[in-house]
Amino acid sequence: MAKDLGKWRRRLDRERTFPPETLAKIDQSLDRLSWAIYALNSFTLLSFPKAQVLSRPDRPKPAQNHDATLQSDWMPYPKHGNIRMSFHAECHFGAFLSLAESACQGEAVFSEQGDSWSAGSMTRFLHRYIELQQWPERLPDCMKLSTITLPHIAALHAMHQWVIIVMSKQAAAASAGQARRPEIATTASSDDQGHWRSIAISSAITIGNLMEAQCVNWGMDHFPVIILQPVTLALFTLLEDLGPSENRSAFISLCITLRAATRRFRAAHGVLGRVHSTAKQNRVTLPQETERLFHIRNIEAQSEVVSETDDIGIDYLLEKWVDLEF
Ligand SMILES: [Zn+2]
Repeated sequence: MAKDLGKWRRRLDRERTFPPETLAKIDQSLDRLSWAIYALNSFTLLSFPKAQVLSRPDRPKPAQNHDATLQSDWMPYPKHGNIRMSFHAECHFGAFLSLAESACQGEAVFSEQGDSWSAGSMTRFLHRYIELQQWPERLPDCMKLSTITLPHIAALHAMHQWVIIVMSKQAAAASAGQARRPEIATTASSDDQGHWRSIAISSAITIGNLMEAQCVNWGMDHFPVIILQPVTLALFTLLEDLGPSENRSAFISLCITLRAATRRFRAAHGVLGRVHSTAKQNRVTLPQETERLFHIRNIEAQSEVVSETDDIGIDYLLEKWVDLEF
């Protein structure tokens, strides 16, 4: 699509159909479109077992200027009274792009390696990991977490934690000589296992906390669909250690979010079922507080309210992880 748009743009130059000011606006739109496609594809491919790493668009990256950005209003949907929050859409787009770039660069290093990593490969991967970790520090103030973070900003930070989980599990698998088979519910065994496992669990807890804060501030239904990926990965990550109370509370918050998501996204039904069956398979005792959530889901499944179509989208969410292949 990006190539077709490039051809179309060159044709406009040849045909001289539009005045320069119109062409400038077209160029601006094409820049945004090219980078939006790149970012969306990067996040989509990150879920696949062997990601096809995309090259950066040829077009200039849309410039970001927090100080010059026009403020727009954001209101919860459906409306709650007269709540209006100021919002920088341009800064949000820029933050989304920079996260995608960072994720894509880490995935590029991971994808070029086989099972055995040299010390140099691991150093390059860790360099990318540190850059990703520092992503929030490079954000303008309007995109940082606050006491009342807007849902779409919380979603960005949840995605950031999701990419950290992905890279932690990849690093654990690489140091165990199993880079081609990363696992999510059971971190690959290696000397570094404890280190990477605690990073992944800490990120999963952060995602749980973000969802809990979102629920308190905006209600259960105010989250964009993109949140489903971080919530799903965080749940499976926490299954590895539900002992500490902090882990259990995050798990409960995430289950409640997922349960709310079943009202909007069919795949959430299937994810809830997979969490339950993975817990059973790995002999994990789930927190008592979640029993009812899974119980209701099972009743729905038995009464065929939940059907095979509820698994639609799960492959996309879980395809990368070898231990979640059933
Ligand atoms: Zn801003």
